[in-house]
Amino acid sequence: MDNFRALVADGNETEKPKLAIRNLTAADLPEGEVTVQVAYSSVNYKDGLVGILGRMVQSYPHIPGIDLSGTVTESSDPRYKPGDQVIVTSYGLGVTHDGGYSELARVPASWVVPLPEGLTLREAMILGTAGFTAALSVQRLEDNGLAPEKGPVVVAGASGGVGSVAVNILAKRGYEVTASTGRMNEEAYLKELGAARVIHRDELTETERKPIRRPLWAAAVDPVGGKTLSYLLSTLQYGGSVATSGLTGGIEVETSVYPFILRGVNWLGIDSVECPMELRRKVWERLSTDLKPTMLSTAIVNEISLEQLPGELARILQGQVRGRTIVKLG
Ligand code: NDP
Repeated sequence: MDNFRALVADGNETEKPKLAIRNLTAADLPEGEVTVQVAYSSVNYKDGLVGILGRMVQSYPHIPGIDLSGTVTESSDPRYKPGDQVIVTSYGLGVTHDGGYSELARVPASWVVPLPEGLTLREAMILGTAGFTAALSVQRLEDNGLAPEKGPVVVAGASGGVGSVAVNILAKRGYEVTASTGRMNEEAYLKELGAARVIHRDELTETERKPIRRPLWAAAVDPVGGKTLSYLLSTLQYGGSVATSGLTGGIEVETSVYPFILRGVNWLGIDSVECPMELRRKVWERLSTDLKPTMLSTAIVNEISLEQLPGELARILQGQVRGRTIVKLG
């Protein structure tokens, strides 16, 4: 593949980037041991931050896209050979290194995950970083004692990428899931994913500071943060845990020592970017087996082209994207 197309962001430190589809050659790609013909990428909140607002980008021109799946075309690393199907997410992909919104990508071999047997390249991107983060949240919650008999689990930002996959994984594993959303018109979708109950996000948002409230949840998956997280910490049951992954509702969190010293709760940080490779591979393996979401075969997936990406990136920053959106390359 000598010539290929990519969505390129161009800009500078003071202005928001401009996005355009460009024809490139392999010489335009950054250094790396593994070259991949990209089959699919996906749309995450972070892609909106990078592509629309230029956050975290260190230099232009830049190809966004924090996720990709595809087939190796060249590798100078003996662990990979042409024809291997792989997933690449996290590290600097699509942020400090050219990413997945491109028909061809070149990456360090240390970022590559072999596609597990139980997933297709398309399914891997329906999951993407959001699905991986949801699964890592479930893994960490269960490592900290969560089990279905412990009580209800709440998922904040449930209509979004991390939230929707978390609802589906937890429901499949037998948890009683409450889905919290600002979009009550998505109630039917969330129930289809397995939510037993759907509540409005206002019910989970702290309006008055209280160190501790009536215990409600055995655990929470929280990609929202802010006042939602303050509320969740004050409503966890004894020994309960919250898995914090995101900030769509804000970065400031008010809490006190009381949930920790009176209820022994756990505040678990979830980071997909630097997640060690051993755990990363384990979570991807589980996503292809016992944690494989039923939504991969049932849910309507929004599949878009490179041309449709700029509009979709703007929409995800406005909280308007439902579930997962994948990008078909080539
Ligand atoms: P999405 O936009 O798909 O989902 C986020 C959801 O948050 C929205 O769908 C919406 O859900 C809810 N939301 C949006 N705005 C607000 C608001 N102002 N107040 C409360 N809720 C709001 O994004 P992703 O799922 O891709 O990512 C979610 C978050 O997780 C982001 O902050 C992202 O950066 C972070 N993240 C972190 C990772 C990590 O490694 N720690 C990895 C992946 C993501 P609803 O409409 O249902 O209320």
